[in-house]
Amino acid sequence: MINKPDVRSKILGELVKLSNNLGKIDYHLAIIGEGNTSAKVETKDVAGSFFIKASGTQLATVTGNDFIEVYFEPIVQLINMENPNAEEINYIFEKAKVDKKNRANPSVETLLHAICLNLEGVNFVGHTHPTAINRLTCSKSFPENLKGRIYPDEIILLGKESVFIPYTDPGVKLAQKAKKEIEIFLDKHGERPKSIYIQNHGFIALGSTPTEVENITLTANKAAEIRFGALLAGGINTLPKDIVTHISKRPDEKYRQNLFKK
Ligand SMILES: [Zn+2]
Repeated sequence: MINKPDVRSKILGELVKLSNNLGKIDYHLAIIGEGNTSAKVETKDVAGSFFIKASGTQLATVTGNDFIEVYFEPIVQLINMENPNAEEINYIFEKAKVDKKNRANPSVETLLHAICLNLEGVNFVGHTHPTAINRLTCSKSFPENLKGRIYPDEIILLGKESVFIPYTDPGVKLAQKAKKEIEIFLDKHGERPKSIYIQNHGFIALGSTPTEVENITLTANKAAEIRFGALLAGGINTLPKDIVTHISKRPDEKYRQNLFKK
């Protein structure tokens, strides 16, 4: 069922606010045209649609006019194609547009967002290139120094573990690789990821609300600062697995976790 227009514009308004926040200069998460955001318009299956940032726009200054609504179905078909060329990709992007008159191009990472938004409970996705995180995604040790959890709020906001994606060409190939890595994560952990690190590239936050996406991104960036400092101070001391599991199940932490989504 298609959401009523007022629901649609509310989602778009929330997405614009999230994007502007992620683009704040003092957050150091994205500059110029870096990063992209999306939001699910319908809450059902692939028959639905989502808003995605248009290519070449800036997170810090985007407005509602800088987002394109696209159907999931053609985009998902594109992910299943072996090696689509630029012409085929453009054709499918045009086919996917809800408003065919919209001349803007959806972000090159539209497919990556479709993969994330198709996961249960994911309504908003934020992809950024945070300075502190990329210190570690661009280091020789990737993903070692981002693995595990180092303090309670990192567990609460980012989940017990993250997905790590080796460097992959942005676009179709990256989306295909992300899909595979997320499936492996789901099999291993029995729950969907909240945080994804991409080697030599950046970060993805998957949230049920725009606030959760912002909180996940800020926590991941702060944790990366701490990890970098810990490396300089002798090495990262990750919490033992039983403590991570304990914290993730504590009722008072579950309570806090829900508050952080509002
Ligand atoms: Zn990127």
